[in-house]
Amino acid sequence: MAVLVIHGGAGGDGPWLGKTPLDPARISCMKQVLQTIGAKLESGEIDCLEAVTMAVEMLEDEPLFNAGQGSVIDEDGSVTMDASIMRGFDQAAGSVVNVTELRHPIRAANLILKQGWPVMLNSAAADQFGLANNLEQVSQDWLKTELRRGQWQQWRASKDSPGSTDEDDSVLDHDLEGRVKTEFSDEGMGTVGAVALDSNGNVAAATSTGGMTGKPRGRIGDTPIIGAGTWADKSIAISCTGVGEAYIRTCAAHRLAMTFRSENDLAKSAELVLDEVAPLGGRGGLIAVSSSGDYVMPFQTRLMYRGLWNSGSIEVGIGPQNEI
Ligand code: ASP
Repeated sequence: MAVLVIHGGAGGDGPWLGKTPLDPARISCMKQVLQTIGAKLESGEIDCLEAVTMAVEMLEDEPLFNAGQGSVIDEDGSVTMDASIMRGFDQAAGSVVNVTELRHPIRAANLILKQGWPVMLNSAAADQFGLANNLEQVSQDWLKTELRRGQWQQWRASKDSPGSTDEDDSVLDHDLEGRVKTEFSDEGMGTVGAVALDSNGNVAAATSTGGMTGKPRGRIGDTPIIGAGTWADKSIAISCTGVGEAYIRTCAAHRLAMTFRSENDLAKSAELVLDEVAPLGGRGGLIAVSSSGDYVMPFQTRLMYRGLWNSGSIEVGIGPQNEI
């Protein structure tokens, strides 16, 4: 038995408005991830740790998700990325904060986990660690897509919600005069994550993000914080997405693990935790898998990009129903 659950971020308020023109590309990326990594996990070719790492690497490579290439842009115009990973059976963990030069921040977190000590590295030291370990170096220019540049310009022009996580799809491309088209608006946050159960009954979790559009210099969200955005122990693996500060203030991922321990009901436990996160401004969602093969993908936003491989069958969804 093998289970792989992925997410590509949660966002938006109000009713589901249907797919955006950019969603088919996101859907096809998620299906590709599930097919490729799910099969390897199922066959035993890779374990849960490698499965979540490879799944997140593929999601980091999709420019429409907010991680790796296509990360959102900070207040000062730069891209800074966070990622973390945790293995359940020994609670080994790795995390990078505010990296700027790595194509795959999650691989750097994976290598930190395998090295064993320390658990977290930040900024230039984290980039240097990755490069010293032969990870691919990329430029800031390569990381920034037209969509993100346009969204950043809109954010800067409006400045009405500094620190907001809105990464709407309003900027589809530029017209010939270089003006941003704004006729279309939808929200989708785009942080990515994966949780997996392998055939040995072990679980792991990984999360990666560019954070929030317009975030101030030095801001650290929940994604690289073990226990907030990512958690795994012997019984459960969790990856969260949403307004990071609320997930930090509730230690959301760890809280779910503890709630699950006492409630022994994954769906109920996940709802209880999201209900505690929401009042702190933490609209969002999470994915989780237990060592017995239960999984959940709840969210309290308009949408959450999400997908499941469960012993060979694949499901993907964006809105409240699996409309796809
Ligand atoms: N949790 C991420 C952060 O706060 C953002 C997200 O999940 O959309 O950096």
